Amino acid sequence: MAMRLEAIALLALGSMTVGAASRGPANATARWAAIPGRVEPTPCPEGWLADGDVCVPLPLEGQEGPELTDVANAHRDRRGQWVRYDQIPRLPERPVDYDLYRYPIAPGMPGGHSVISGYDLDQPNERQRRGPTLSHVGHGGVDLPQKKGAPIVMVPLEHQEGDAEVLFVGDLFGRTVITLHALREGGQVREYVLLFGHLDAPAMGLAKGAHLASGDLVGTVGDTGSPELVHLHLEARRVRATVNIRNEPGYKLVANECTVVCDPRNVLPLK
Ligand SMILES: [Zn+2]
Repeated sequence: MAMRLEAIALLALGSMTVGAASRGPANATARWAAIPGRVEPTPCPEGWLADGDVCVPLPLEGQEGPELTDVANAHRDRRGQWVRYDQIPRLPERPVDYDLYRYPIAPGMPGGHSVISGYDLDQPNERQRRGPTLSHVGHGGVDLPQKKGAPIVMVPLEHQEGDAEVLFVGDLFGRTVITLHALREGGQVREYVLLFGHLDAPAMGLAKGAHLASGDLVGTVGDTGSPELVHLHLEARRVRATVNIRNEPGYKLVANECTVVCDPRNVLPLK
């Protein structure tokens, strides 16, 4: 048993980042240790393991990714209507800092930063993105500015199995490519789609059914459907379990009834 626990512990440590390990129960452990005269309780809560002075979560046997669950949220759309939708917020163990993740394009902002506008569909109505030229309230993805024509290359998502598969090439968020990814999550394989919006052009010859491995060209950055704002809109959505997503038309791939919008930090790979 001791050997087995050790092996699991190594697995757990291997999958953690410094950022993730320094939050949550880790801080609780530090507080316990700081109270003078207090008998130190079990250093880490059940299901967690000490790594130096921090605690890291033990993965359950047979699990690779945590189970992501969707929650309801709502906002007022531009006509003033109250709209309810499902969304999957960032998991607490995933780092908040967008700079810790890998993106399909090179950083396009000073200081090596990538993200100019992040995910806010988990926020209350009044804190979601609005602007005079924005057609939608709230933001279900990340905006990554770059030069027009800059290459967009596939990055494998966390816990991804196999290559990505192209589901859609056409006009949706300007010129758009949507890919399908199988992720091992909570002991089972779940399907996610990635939406690449506002492209200057999709990769030459890219069509539904094509497979994209890590580093393969998806397309080039542009401003289609987003005049004068050259950037990549990257959005992650989880396919609902009952939906056969390959049979759905393009607009349904991003409809709440087929896919649930997800904080991209849950699925993007860490640097
Ligand atoms: Zn966007």
